[in-house]
Amino acid sequence: MSRSTPATHALLDRLRQVVGARHVLTGAKATHRFSHGYRCGSGAVLAVVQPGSLVEQWRVLQACVAADVILICQASNTGLTGGSTPDGVYDRPVVVLSTRRLTGVQLIRDGQQVVCLPGATLYELEAQLRPLGREPHSVIGSSCIGASVIGGVCNNSGGALVRRGPAYTELALYARVDETGCLQLVNHLGIALGDEPEAMLARLEAGEYAPGDIDPADQRAASDHRYADHVRAIDAATPARFNADATRLFEASGSAGKVALFAVRLDTFVKDAATHVFYIGTNSAGELTALRRAILANFKALPVAGEYLHRDCFDIAARYGKDMYIAIRKLGTDRLPALFAAKARFDALAAGLPFVPASLSDRVLQWVADRLPDHLPARLWTWRDRYEHHLMLRVTGEGLAETRAYLAAHFPSADGDVFECTPEEATAAFLHRFAAAGAAIRYRQVHPAEVEDIVALDIALPRNGEDWVERLPEAIERPILHKLYYGHFLCQVFHQDYIVAKGTDCVALEHAMLPLLNLRGAEYPAEHNVGHLYEAKPALRAHYAALDPCNVFNPGIGHTSRIKRQPNVTGHCDAGH
Ligand SMILES: Cc1cc2nc3c(=O)[nH]c(=O)nc-3n(C[C@H](O)[C@H](O)[C@H](O)COP(=O)(O)OP(=O)(O)OC[C@H]3O[C@@H](n4cnc5c(N)ncnc54)[C@H](O)[C@@H]3O)c2cc1C
Repeated sequence: MSRSTPATHALLDRLRQVVGARHVLTGAKATHRFSHGYRCGSGAVLAVVQPGSLVEQWRVLQACVAADVILICQASNTGLTGGSTPDGVYDRPVVVLSTRRLTGVQLIRDGQQVVCLPGATLYELEAQLRPLGREPHSVIGSSCIGASVIGGVCNNSGGALVRRGPAYTELALYARVDETGCLQLVNHLGIALGDEPEAMLARLEAGEYAPGDIDPADQRAASDHRYADHVRAIDAATPARFNADATRLFEASGSAGKVALFAVRLDTFVKDAATHVFYIGTNSAGELTALRRAILANFKALPVAGEYLHRDCFDIAARYGKDMYIAIRKLGTDRLPALFAAKARFDALAAGLPFVPASLSDRVLQWVADRLPDHLPARLWTWRDRYEHHLMLRVTGEGLAETRAYLAAHFPSADGDVFECTPEEATAAFLHRFAAAGAAIRYRQVHPAEVEDIVALDIALPRNGEDWVERLPEAIERPILHKLYYGHFLCQVFHQDYIVAKGTDCVALEHAMLPLLNLRGAEYPAEHNVGHLYEAKPALRAHYAALDPCNVFNPGIGHTSRIKRQPNVTGHCDAGH
């Protein structure tokens, strides 16, 4: 609902005063790339507002809460379940608060921790930590396309790092609307900034605090300290991690946009001096199960990552993820967010023109990619031809000897084999694995006559599970054109993208799949969060309701109610708004 009324006019005027007219976007074309999700989700917006400072962000929140509109905070909009965009119809106008301009990473406590502002990306964080020989808490597939640190915390994003678990912190600075309808600033960052909201935010952004203002806050976690032990518990009947895990929901962590974050404080980690990658191929799923259990139960050093790719996914990614792969290799990750933004602008422009086919940019990029020389190293292709299941195991120097010894004792086998990657092969293998995440979407864009849509499942299997290969009944299998299986194998987190034939009811298909997952003890979503695709389980619902009792922020997330809840006291708020 974005009908123009005197009240919405007044709000737009106020927002323009706060951030400047060029940072208040209105109209379908200008707002397209903020109102449409990466893979799914879209809805009308009254405006997209892009504050240029934390104080401006606070004033935007004040104006929007006073005007009784819905607020959806958005960082880099790489979420895969539509959780950072509107979706469908609401009872109030929607304002998207885009934090892209609010970049900034502040190193504290000699770089052992960082404070990240709302638009800071994982890439930016990695770059700042590199000279210190340290690295971030998280590496996800979208790190290279500009995913933010805060978006990751809000989603409890997982990713590839076996030793560190999902993004998690108990230290954050955020605004919420309390049960009386008043906007409050909550400082749980563990940094003394004063009491007056605007002065606090200005101080934080300018980095005007002394080491003595920083509480070590040892009683509050700034990462998931328990994960390494947790993932090793291979006889536990529950998954190692999943979004509705109540033990990982804490204020900002897992908040899915139900508060407005200004900053989070996170641990950083000593960078591994050198890593080595083993590329394992097998036609026996049981062989990978045995390997997983042996590593997690017996290895002294946990691997850095253990990423899985099925052969069918290898093939689709090799073709439909090729230009992404080449762009990252040739241009570097720092230019990718700008390229994505340019593509989104082009798509928005083209969408309004007559006689222009849908998804023109994807078609052109695919046409070019199909004519470029092959991009993957020869040994990856050899393994692709021989083996159905592929596992890339990245280990540190500390874990190298035991990994080599185990693999030498078990491979080659009747069903599988392994090779130790050169640095070039290692980079290629992991990049190829991450290009898989966007490949199904590209397939859909360039084959609109053949494809109805993608059904994308993000699941976590129990740690004691031994049978991780999915077998679907024929009735479910029939309309599926391609199945893409890939994921974080040692954590038993799998992404399963099904490319579904034209004319199929994809929602019904997905609903038919979920009971089968329940029978296998799966939790879903594992790490992409509920967005508007999945129903939030009770722990998540309770977390959302406690953070946002009046349902002002991102209503409807996880199939919760979209309706405003009346404040229980109607009185005056103090300086909040
Ligand atoms: C190619 C690709 C690969 C991916 N690989 C992985 C992977 O390996 N693992 C994984 O877990 N995910 C992965 N993802 C999903 C996605 O990148 C993550 O969920 C990521 O953490 C989202 O970050 P973002 O900056 O894009 O956040 P957004 O999508 O913009 O937002 C995510 C959530 O955070 C909220 N939010 C954002 N900013 C604020 C704020 N300032 N205040 C309050 N709420 C806020 C939003 O409302 C939303 O609910 C992948 C996505 C792609 C496209």
